[in-house]
Amino acid sequence: MDCVFCKIAAGEIPSTAVYQDELAYAFGDINPKAPVHILVIPREHIGSLDEAGVGHRTLLGHLMRAAAEIARKKGLAKGYRVVVNTGDEGGRTVDHLHLHLMGGRQMTWPPG
Ligand code: 5GP
Ligand code: ZN
Repeated sequence: MDCVFCKIAAGEIPSTAVYQDELAYAFGDINPKAPVHILVIPREHIGSLDEAGVGHRTLLGHLMRAAAEIARKKGLAKGYRVVVNTGDEGGRTVDHLHLHLMGGRQMTWPPG
């Protein structure tokens, strides 16, 4: 499958790893939009949140917990944001489920 994030998780495309375990991989976003901007992905290819099924519930929770753990390790004690862009109107550009973990500056609401 020609998926850039599958290749990153497999180490076929270089990335700056910040967390990894048997289910998840996390790395720095190539075009960061905040001082800390990390992508947390499942090793399994899931196209989007919309394609995650009931069988992925535990995995989805695992990704959220990983994001919180990374945020703590990165010292984001003042807060952070976790975003999952989904579909065209959601602004998704890569078709492999990913959580954006962003922090290190004041976030605004609503996002654009
Ligand atoms: P989306 O727009 O799909 O929610 O987010 C995709 C993110 O992946 C973007 O923030 C983009 O900068 C990042 N990205 C795309 N290709 C690469 C890559 O090859 N390496 C890394 N580290 N990030 C990437
Ligand atoms: Zn993939």
